[in-house]
Amino acid sequence: MRNIYITNSPDKTKKLAKEIVSQFSGGEVVCLYGDLGAGKTAFVQGMIDYFIPGKRVLSPTFIIVRHYRINHKLIDKFLHVDLYRLQDIKEIRKLEFFESIQKSDSIVAIEWAEKLENLIPKPRIDIHIKNLDKDRREIKIKYVKS
Ligand code: ADP
Ligand code: MG
Repeated sequence: MRNIYITNSPDKTKKLAKEIVSQFSGGEVVCLYGDLGAGKTAFVQGMIDYFIPGKRVLSPTFIIVRHYRINHKLIDKFLHVDLYRLQDIKEIRKLEFFESIQKSDSIVAIEWAEKLENLIPKPRIDIHIKNLDKDRREIKIKYVKS
């Protein structure tokens, strides 16, 4: 299944992210792709805002993973991962987020997921974001089966 959306503001991107995450029940892995400034973090902000309204989401660029405790009947944890600074794929398995992947109490969102190479999990939801112009983004959402 693939859907393509165009958003014309960061808020519209966040709104779309909320609609997507509202259908989740735990165990989902969201892989985000796109250039710097495309809107990957904005999309993740929208997802976290659905569970924790008003929560300030900092980009985890320098620390790779940020954990959010969430209060939802099925989901306890939201992990926001940014692999931009990952040097060596061998380090991935050492990162604690890796064991949370596809755990039914967690949602994991991964920026620069292409860095996972052949460790990229299935099933997953791929989100490709393309910068069309200053405020317009093309967002492709693809559900990849196992
Ligand atoms: P990334 O994580 O992909 O590097 P960010 O989400 O950190 O990107 O930054 C996206 C930037 O683009 C922000 O400055 C945001 O305000 C801006 N922006 C403009 N239009 C949009 C849009 N339609 N969707 C998302 N971000 C947008
Ligand atoms: Mg980012």
